[in-house]
Amino acid sequence: MLKLPSLRSCYDTYVRDISIVFLLLLPLTICNAISLFSGHFLNFAEQGELAKRFFYFSDLLIGVYPIALCIITTYYLSSKHNVSPLIVIPYALVMFTGISIANDLVAPHNGLPNNPLIGLLAAGVASAWCVTFKVYPLDPSRIDFVSALYKQSLHFFGFLLLTVFFNQLTGTIILESDLFRQDLALNPLTISGGLVYQFILGLLGSIGINGHNFLFRAKQQLFEDTKNNLEAWEMGEEPLNILGQGFYDAFLAIGGSGSTLSLLLCILFFSKDKRHLTLALSALPLVMFNINELLLFGLPIIFNPTLIVPFVLVPMISFVVVYSSMSLGLVNPVSAIVDWMTPPLISGYLATQNSIGGVVLQVVVIAIGVLVYRPFYLHYAGKSTVDAKIMIRRHSIEKSSLKSFLGDVSQSMGGHVNHHEISQRVGKMMTRGSFTMYYQPQVNLKDPNDIAYESLVRYRTEDGHILPPLFIKDFHQLGAIKHLDEMVIDLVLRDLKKLPLNQGCRVGINISAESVSDPDIVDYISERLYFYGVPPSLLELEITEEAILEDHVQIRQNIEILQGLGVKVAIDDFGAGYASFPHLLKFNFDKVKLDRSLLLNATEERGQNLYQLLAKISEVTGCALVAEGIETEQDMEFVESCGINICQGFYFAKPMALDDAIDWAASASASASASKQTLNV
Ligand code: C2E
Ligand code: MG
Ligand code: MG
Repeated sequence: MLKLPSLRSCYDTYVRDISIVFLLLLPLTICNAISLFSGHFLNFAEQGELAKRFFYFSDLLIGVYPIALCIITTYYLSSKHNVSPLIVIPYALVMFTGISIANDLVAPHNGLPNNPLIGLLAAGVASAWCVTFKVYPLDPSRIDFVSALYKQSLHFFGFLLLTVFFNQLTGTIILESDLFRQDLALNPLTISGGLVYQFILGLLGSIGINGHNFLFRAKQQLFEDTKNNLEAWEMGEEPLNILGQGFYDAFLAIGGSGSTLSLLLCILFFSKDKRHLTLALSALPLVMFNINELLLFGLPIIFNPTLIVPFVLVPMISFVVVYSSMSLGLVNPVSAIVDWMTPPLISGYLATQNSIGGVVLQVVVIAIGVLVYRPFYLHYAGKSTVDAKIMIRRHSIEKSSLKSFLGDVSQSMGGHVNHHEISQRVGKMMTRGSFTMYYQPQVNLKDPNDIAYESLVRYRTEDGHILPPLFIKDFHQLGAIKHLDEMVIDLVLRDLKKLPLNQGCRVGINISAESVSDPDIVDYISERLYFYGVPPSLLELEITEEAILEDHVQIRQNIEILQGLGVKVAIDDFGAGYASFPHLLKFNFDKVKLDRSLLLNATEERGQNLYQLLAKISEVTGCALVAEGIETEQDMEFVESCGINICQGFYFAKPMALDDAIDWAASASASASASKQTLNV
């Protein structure tokens, strides 16, 4: 039965994924903060020209951010789901730019797509599309390159249609949210509209969505109106509005959305939880630039029912306090749009016509925030300590939340670095050397003309060295093992016509768990058999026990259909795993290959008895038996005494290149006919 993931595990995955993506982007964010800070500092030191350069950096980074977010999210998601980012990233970029341009979601000054939410959407949809309908990077050396090219073009075309659909959907949502905003009278320049605007921002932030992006149009309008009001005020044409972009930036998001500087101070003053203290100290340098991702995702605040309340409430209380102070004339109204990354206190000073009143007001707002956060935080911390204790008792977690959070992230990023190394290694293998098949005979002791072969993949380096298949685990880790299996199937079918196979003899191909349980594998094999003009009766598939522990129903179906076509199916390495016998009942194999480890144990009596017992499997199941790993004459005599006639091992021949296997077969049949003649004489 299909098991749906629990809500808790979806939540954990979401928090983890979003944290990792934002942490990967932190260098960009921090550089932006440094550029801004330097710009302000230089302006203060009356170095206007130099300051402009730093502001230019900041503009550049802000402009590039949504595209970087889209690319990094796509890379992260595709690597996580084992699809090549080389394929998925262009898909995501097409959707991102397509939707942004069509819906006018581009920055007016540089024309770059500027809505990160659409970037995330494009990354998610492109990854889901390529995970659901898998395609592999095109390989011009493949014999079916042209058909793969058509397949991928069709795949891309399908995605373009999906882009059109999401484009329409985005247009409708923008229209609806504009109407919704109008219905709500969502005008941040009025008190009620501003409170609703702030409330929605908080709610969205508490589920990890940047509300400024969601309410993009409202924010754009707010920015324009504020700029116009400031210009008119400077010309003496209009009074200065209290509410404006600078009001929200400088006073309602101190330390980031939800006024998280107050929460951070609350942790530093009142927390006894070492994990939270470490987290707060680590987040402090970022929160000073109003970047609060580490707290949002590390504590976490998002989806945290206790902390969401003050997260939404504190900025709204600040709204009332700041508005009242300004309208009562206690503090100058905001007369400048200070960049949102400007550190608290400095921003208060700059925003209020360089007045200390602005700084004091920020201090008051921060202090009120601490008081509001305190009971909620202490309630959460008490609970979270209990949770942590339970977990420690269960030996599930002994690390601090920061360590475990960063540990998870670094493990995940480490995984990607490792992944990256492996993909580079495999990429090199694919482009530099070549894969080739070696063949090891399976000899019938009763009939020397009855020779079957097992194909074993090898890698030939550029300078002609042959490497054993240690690279198979790299393909497994990359999730590209099906690609290797498909390549092996092609290589073997290409060789097959040259191998001198007597009537009834076959060539075995080792096939991985992923491929055997793939619903498309049957179509693939039959299509390749047809393409190469090879009858299915020449083919045998070897499945390892380990492989068939997986999805039983699909594997059984695949095995039955393949057998129906005439392909034989063998269970490989029988006896090496722990679930050998149940598999014989569940699946109808044609052949059982007894693992070499069983033979190694047969030096003792118990091992010999076991081998003799296993040799009787064929009587019960009707499967043919093959003894693997015959290295000596004694091995051969022993298995023969057990009633097994088909043997494979170094005693007869090691795996050989195709030409050597052909020569070996010729000399084997020559010596067979010579011994037949001797017998006749
Ligand atoms: P396997 O399918 O059980 O293949 C038999 C392995 O035993 C081969 O190692 C073979 O060279 C080795 N062997 C044969 N006779 C003797 C013997 O007398 N003594 C000893 N010590 N070893 C013997 P190889 O080629 O290194 O392959 C190892 C494993 O890698 C295979 O085990 C198979 O599971 C996997 N493999 C090999 N080729 C492919 C392939 O094309 N596709 C996939 N998916 N897996 C492959
Ligand atoms: Mg095998
Ligand atoms: Mg084997």
